[in-house]
Amino acid sequence: MSKIQDKVIVIMGASSGIGEATTKKLAQEGAKLVIAARREDRLKALVESLPDADIAYAVADVTNKDEVQAVIDLAVEKYGHVDVLYNNAGVMPLAPLSEKRFDEWRQMLDINIVGVLNGIAAVLPVMKKQQSGQIIATDSVAGHAVWPGSAVYSGTKFAVRAIMEGLRQEEQTGNIRSTIISPGAVDTELYNTINDPETQASARNSAQTEGFGLKSEDVADAVAYAISTPESVSISEILIRPTKQAL
Ligand code: NDP
Repeated sequence: MSKIQDKVIVIMGASSGIGEATTKKLAQEGAKLVIAARREDRLKALVESLPDADIAYAVADVTNKDEVQAVIDLAVEKYGHVDVLYNNAGVMPLAPLSEKRFDEWRQMLDINIVGVLNGIAAVLPVMKKQQSGQIIATDSVAGHAVWPGSAVYSGTKFAVRAIMEGLRQEEQTGNIRSTIISPGAVDTELYNTINDPETQASARNSAQTEGFGLKSEDVADAVAYAISTPESVSISEILIRPTKQAL
């Protein structure tokens, strides 16, 4: 039996890219899934593409703590417990600070940081009661490095790394595992969230050049590995880059 088989796993930000690929990978491994994001059509299509899977979807915006709580409640209602929460939702509207994109700054802070906190807040009481569980977040190489145009995005990913390390320290005695997955460039729709034309062109150039960027499936494999280790083994971080990535 796979070590993922029958685990109850909630994925926030499952409607495309890494979240979608992870949903497929974990469904194949026999997990029981609740997936969420804002685009209902994409979630519905994903569920319909997995007819043999034990899977439900819910529409939720991670910036809304009540909607995030409802996703966790759905998992508890359906399966009785939650083994893993994967906080994967994120946006990356890169741009130089001098452009003063106030709305995009706020959006990144709300989705990439507060979204992760909303997930932790919703699931932590459940996991503390269970005395077991694992919370995973998609961080980034941008959680370790900054380059021109990435200041705010990197700031959010540095923050997630700090929050997830704090979570690890606070909850290790309660048997709760904290994991971040930190990819380099992955060829996904994330690049559509960059509105600054020059920055979008150069970022796309690195991630979407044939044979350069990681595939979402490569990251999904890393997530599956982190989930599959024994309860006594906590993978704190997997940093995964395209071989040809310099940064
Ligand atoms: P995608 O754009 O394909 O996926 C982003 C996911 O996040 C979608 O499912 C989207 O769903 C969801 N999402 C965005 N905003 C919200 C919100 N407010 N509420 C709920 N869900 C939301 O890109 P990726 O797969 O690349 O991104 C996944 C994660 O990986 C992000 O955290 C990103 O920062 C991180 N990452 C990506 C890298 C890359 O190069 N692609 C590199 C390193 C990290 P919907 O729009 O339907 O709500």
